[in-house]
Amino acid sequence: TSPAHIRNFSIIAHIDHGKSTLADRMLQLTGAVDERLMRAQYLDRMDIERERGITIKAQNVRLPWVPKTGAVAGEEIVLHMIDTPGHVDFTYEVSRALEACEGAVLLVDAAQGIEAQTLANLYLAMEKDLEIIPVLNKIDLPAADPDRFALEIAQIIGCEPEEVLRVSGKTGEGVSQLLDKLCEVVPPPVGDADAPPRALIFDSVYDTYRGVVTYVRVFDGKLTPRTKVTMMSTGANYELQEIGIISPEPEACEGLGVGEVGYLITGVKDVRQSKVGDTVTLANGGAEDPLAGYQEPSPMVFSGLYPIDGSDYPVLRDALDKLQLNDAALAYEPETSVALGFGFRCGFLGLLHMEITRDRLQREFGLDLISTAPNVVYRVIAEDGEEYNVTNPSVWPEGKNREVYEPIVKTTIIVPSEFVGTTMELCQSKRGDMQGMDYLSETRVELRYIMPLGEIIFDFFDSLKSRTRGYASLQYEEAGEQISDLVKVDILLQGEAVDAFSAIVHRDHAQHYGNKMTVKLKELIPRQQYEVPIQAAIGSKIISRENIRAIRKDVLSKCYGGDISRKRKLLEKQKEGKKRMKSIGRVDVPQEAFVAALSAD
Ligand code: GDP
Ligand code: MG
Repeated sequence: TSPAHIRNFSIIAHIDHGKSTLADRMLQLTGAVDERLMRAQYLDRMDIERERGITIKAQNVRLPWVPKTGAVAGEEIVLHMIDTPGHVDFTYEVSRALEACEGAVLLVDAAQGIEAQTLANLYLAMEKDLEIIPVLNKIDLPAADPDRFALEIAQIIGCEPEEVLRVSGKTGEGVSQLLDKLCEVVPPPVGDADAPPRALIFDSVYDTYRGVVTYVRVFDGKLTPRTKVTMMSTGANYELQEIGIISPEPEACEGLGVGEVGYLITGVKDVRQSKVGDTVTLANGGAEDPLAGYQEPSPMVFSGLYPIDGSDYPVLRDALDKLQLNDAALAYEPETSVALGFGFRCGFLGLLHMEITRDRLQREFGLDLISTAPNVVYRVIAEDGEEYNVTNPSVWPEGKNREVYEPIVKTTIIVPSEFVGTTMELCQSKRGDMQGMDYLSETRVELRYIMPLGEIIFDFFDSLKSRTRGYASLQYEEAGEQISDLVKVDILLQGEAVDAFSAIVHRDHAQHYGNKMTVKLKELIPRQQYEVPIQAAIGSKIISRENIRAIRKDVLSKCYGGDISRKRKLLEKQKEGKKRMKSIGRVDVPQEAFVAALSAD
């Protein structure tokens, strides 16, 4: 197809605002999917996406459309829809997907209004000069208030409220007008057809049968099958075994030219050989300069993962190997813990990425896991001037540290105005530094903070949601680092530190963490033949202490104090590990106590 007849666009939307449903209608209306084969959420192929109802991997599809209105009425236009992941952990992938487009649909639920992540992605799209098409969705809902939200959107992007389209992905109302509009206003791609090819990788998926399937947008030149190509970030060469388009099933073709979107198969087995953001060119006579913006995925959040049943360790290792084939951002290395045995320290882009990974390990590989509390990467300059990147509290340099730096993020929160007070309180308690506040409309407020990432990954979002009855939305992006007064709090059983419970916290929060953990453990660890002190310490300084009293003669065996019915429920699931004890010094601790102590509540 000639570039004049191509339109590349993304849909920017908050989770649940109806992107997948709208995509389904577009597939139907354009005839891309046969009526008989249509199923809901057609493009969300991975099971886990369907179950969680979120889109993790970008999917893209070619939609042929002959608009009835506008400047190109009557001409066949090829629309490429490039799906973007909606979650905050995947900002980089979103930015690459947007890079592959000339236009973006801003899709907003007409009963909810715009949310923080949508706003952040909208700003990304505006920075890239994409043509923005504002759309209110779900206008069929009785609770929809399109007039109010059209005003809000108009104010944010600087257009007239009347320019905001109104559609229903559910009933299909307004969808063909939206397709017409896309053909009319999204600029056609521009590139040099005679130059050496340059194609941007905006997604890369491991397929058991085909190896890695790489999704690209061609900027210059043409890619054809059976040629040798180079990945410009690494210089690695591969033969292009197949090139094709997605419509919406993969179809091999004779090549992709300027502005076209499709997939490549090179036979590589690991997505790290075909990375999002990289540029593909020819191995011989290829382009000199890559397309801008390549970035290595870097894990921001770390946690230890341990099999409950130690004999599952090799299964966990194989499972992580397999997941990494499809996830360039997942990092891991073996570690051992006195308390938990053999496991892995894993690095993730963020909390959702961590949750999804744990979920898949449990579901797809049948693993029962314990995970330690998540932490970020700290940069520590020790007394002797040595510098450390600490991804695990257990390797925190001992002694007095000269300087400690922690990552900070620019945070945007949108809340209904009645929750501004409670939200500010929460942000302050999490060491937030307020940057600004704007009324998006009379009833909704945008708050901006600089916050330590370490505070955000620790149940911040849950607290925010519960304080705002679920109405708050949150977005954050990296904003460098700051020097902070952070300390490592150790938890000791009979004088011996339990590595899995060590945490890096701000000095002002150390006492709280210490008290919480000692009280929790006192409740969870069965009495022994002798008294067992549980202490929290910073270095050699004890900051809190509880005692487990010695067992009395008339007590038969394990004895729990306090109400642990809820924890017990959790524990009942852990069949194998139940009877196993770990010895910390002279103290026997059932593994279930570790699981419960590490569960976040
Ligand atoms: P996504 O997370 O943005 O992909 O959202 P989905 O397409 O999965 O939709 C989220 C929920 O909203 C689903 O329960 C849909 O059935 C519903 N939904 C989507 N579009 C519409 C619409 O136009 N009208 C109504 N009433 N519901 C919709
Ligand atoms: Mg979806």
